[in-house]
Amino acid sequence: MSNFRPSRPSGIKRCRTILATVLIGTLILTSVACKKGIQPTRETRFIMGTLVEIVAYPSSETTRAAVNRAFERMEEIEDQAYPDRSEFFLSLREGKPSALPEVLARVLDKALSVASESEGAFDPTLGRVVSLWGFDRNEPGIPADEDLAAALRTVGYRRLSVDSDGVVRPTPPGNPLWLELGGVAKGYAVDVAVAELTESGIQAGIVNAGGDLRSFGVRPDRGFWRIGIQDPDDPQGMLGVLEVDEGSVATSGDYERYFEKDGIRFHHILDPTSGLPVRNGIRSATVITRECGLADALATAAFVMGPEKGLALLERLEGVEGILVVDGEDLLTTSGVGGRIGFDRR
Ligand code: AMP
Ligand code: MG
Repeated sequence: MSNFRPSRPSGIKRCRTILATVLIGTLILTSVACKKGIQPTRETRFIMGTLVEIVAYPSSETTRAAVNRAFERMEEIEDQAYPDRSEFFLSLREGKPSALPEVLARVLDKALSVASESEGAFDPTLGRVVSLWGFDRNEPGIPADEDLAAALRTVGYRRLSVDSDGVVRPTPPGNPLWLELGGVAKGYAVDVAVAELTESGIQAGIVNAGGDLRSFGVRPDRGFWRIGIQDPDDPQGMLGVLEVDEGSVATSGDYERYFEKDGIRFHHILDPTSGLPVRNGIRSATVITRECGLADALATAAFVMGPEKGLALLERLEGVEGILVVDGEDLLTTSGVGGRIGFDRR
């Protein structure tokens, strides 16, 4: 079954599937709910370098307070997950063991398990290389060859261990370790926000961090959620609409952060073996699964692995679906993409 309505049929040939942008998904959600008189609480804040929107039903004082707490929990993660703000990262860069802040325990765990599943395509020790490219600064640029070579020597997800008491140790001892959780922390923060909302008894809603999102509960009017997927060639436009019962959708795309030099696009998703922006034909990788942290990390991993291996990884993992937009080709999708996608409620 396919409910895909291509909005730009000539751009990507023979689109056969579902999909679209999250912004549009939440707009659809709100407008339909309003017609039925069910108003959500809706609030937006700037967190982790992106606009985060929370839409939660029904609108009430209780919902507003829960939304506020959900944002606060995301901000706590923001405070701890980025190297420029946290002593934890700085000590590791000097090769010293460092106690893992509690809010990061599950993020690092997720990052290391996706690193292992993807055989290092996703690598949370890429921090020094990421920092050289400077995509989080106003003026990113191409690193010098010798700097890149030195930075690459610090990369390798097996070059650390985590003790049972939560101390992270560079391996071998004294080795500089540049942790980088930017490819997973945003999605994980979405999970934490959703946990806060559901524990507060909120019936239904969606937390959308710049396109990495998680919906929960039964939508008051229709029962499911419509999520859009962006068109890499026209990020204001969408490729189609994905219908999800409850779950997460995260996308990694070459249009999210980049600069151009001599007509070449240098984007922020890096190959851990070369330290260069990945060039394998993939324009975007979208992952659909229950948890947003996992979806986020897997989207980055699949992008790095390329069309064939990336799709194979997503197909192999249980409860995971994916959609790859590849230059000049059909959309590639895992076998479960087609009808509505649902996950067991827990
Ligand atoms: P995302 O937008 O989720 O694909 O994550 C991209 C961000 O993850 C980048 O801005 C870097 O901070 C980091 N990153 C880039 N390449 C990788 C990689 N191969 N493995 C892990 N993290 C990466
Ligand atoms: Mg990611």
